[in-house]
Amino acid sequence: MLSPQDLSPETIAVTFAKTSRSPKPFDEIAAELTDERSAQFHEKWVVGYGHASVAEHTVLHLALEYVSRLAIETIEGNRLASYTEKSTRYQTWDGTDFHVPKEVRGTQFESPYIDTCNLLFDTYASLAAKTSAYLHETTAREDGESETAFARRIKSDATDVCRFLLPAASLANVGMTINARALEYAICKMLSHPLIEVREIGETLREVGMREAPTLIKYANCNDYMVATRNKMHDEGVKVQNRDDGADFTLIDYDQAGEEAVLAAILFRFGSGRDYHSCLEYVRTLSGAQRQELFETLMSDRGKYDQPLREFEYAQMTFDVVMDQGAYFEFKRHRMMTQTVQPLTADLGFALPKVIMDCGCEKEYLQAMRQAGELSAELAEWNPDVASYILPNGYNRRVLFTMNLREAFHFCRLRAAKNAHFSIRRVAYRVAEAINQIYPLLGKYLEVPPNETHQGITDKYFSKTKIN
Ligand SMILES: Cc1cc2nc3c(=O)[nH]c(=O)nc-3n(C[C@H](O)[C@H](O)[C@H](O)COP(=O)(O)OP(=O)(O)OC[C@H]3O[C@@H](n4cnc5c(N)ncnc54)[C@H](O)[C@@H]3O)c2cc1C
Repeated sequence: MLSPQDLSPETIAVTFAKTSRSPKPFDEIAAELTDERSAQFHEKWVVGYGHASVAEHTVLHLALEYVSRLAIETIEGNRLASYTEKSTRYQTWDGTDFHVPKEVRGTQFESPYIDTCNLLFDTYASLAAKTSAYLHETTAREDGESETAFARRIKSDATDVCRFLLPAASLANVGMTINARALEYAICKMLSHPLIEVREIGETLREVGMREAPTLIKYANCNDYMVATRNKMHDEGVKVQNRDDGADFTLIDYDQAGEEAVLAAILFRFGSGRDYHSCLEYVRTLSGAQRQELFETLMSDRGKYDQPLREFEYAQMTFDVVMDQGAYFEFKRHRMMTQTVQPLTADLGFALPKVIMDCGCEKEYLQAMRQAGELSAELAEWNPDVASYILPNGYNRRVLFTMNLREAFHFCRLRAAKNAHFSIRRVAYRVAEAINQIYPLLGKYLEVPPNETHQGITDKYFSKTKIN
């Protein structure tokens, strides 16, 4: 064990790197190194010869406080890193917990921006009290449930509903564990970002990174290519005529022979010496019942916490899905897929949770949501990036993603579970239902609670999913 308590992060990385050239034990290599020699090594091998993976052995734990949830999207936009952030489900927000962007300060938008944030947070607090009281009255206590457990459940259900009002400007803390290679790229993205807040976070991370791993973070700068591409491709993108038919869930594409590919790859792995084509041809000779039997053999010993085999990754699907921002914030945390999200705008409307309607708070909710949407549309004319800050979690967003069947198993199990938020449960059920259509032999093993559907969840928890 090379302890970070004894050695600097860069020295650890160089010690590992040097084992590729030196037969000496690790502790001897480490003992010969100084911070200066480590830096020289990095300069030569990592920077000079492109042996960049060495930087992955330097791992930093970064604690970011009071950053907006909008900025968190960029902070967490790195696949090869780990995060834990303040939850909108298990914590509540105070009325002052919002970010006022520097772009807005001193402009004609400053007052309306602050007023709208205040309105959203006041409505959030007001609805938290009202929905709690309503749910307390109308929810049946479970057998053996204590008063404290019941009160906790009610508070949590109310918080799940009120979070629709929290704007992307809401401040939160996030802990990030990341290696220096991924951090360098993450900082580049932040320094190239259109929002001042994100660029400032990037500067701070660069300063901190330079203290801990000076050679490895040295080349993290604003990237001209990223900036130019964003601007140029935006100009191209707006030329596209929208043929939007209002669909909020589309399976765009999938591997038609996905189940065959998964099965053939598994036989390839365990059949010792058979080439892939032979495995595939063999699978194609099997009847539906025989394939089902093979899958049953494959899945029957699988325990509750066992992941499907890696070969499930040979079946890929691409979806275009509209989900509310609250759901997206959870969705984006799933790193084993390719996601492309559109900017958060008011264009796709917002959702109205049923409890808000049932407890008679519809008017209050609609007023706050509409004011936020109108201000965002106005801000968008001036600065579209800043316009996202004011939009609450209830506003919808379109996400394109490609996931494989292995990640789909994981995603559906975690996000269709009864303890997940109903916004993301809807998405998880819809994904599971689509998989059952295209991959029925494997879809039946997806672990989603039985007797529920995405439509059932929508009807139970939403009065409307799209209000313009
Ligand atoms: C009930 C519940 C409550 C939650 N509460 C919070 C909360 O309060 N705050 C919060 O920040 N998040 C919270 N989350 C989010 C959660 O911590 C995960 O980040 C999120 O669900 C993404 O799933 P995942 O990390 O399992 O894997 P994905 O990113 O979907 O990856 C799939 C799998 O790949 C593997 N994997 C991926 N990346 C790594 C890695 N870096 N190291 C090792 N293995 C990896 C794991 O096996 C993982 O399960 C909550 C999730 C649930 C379901």
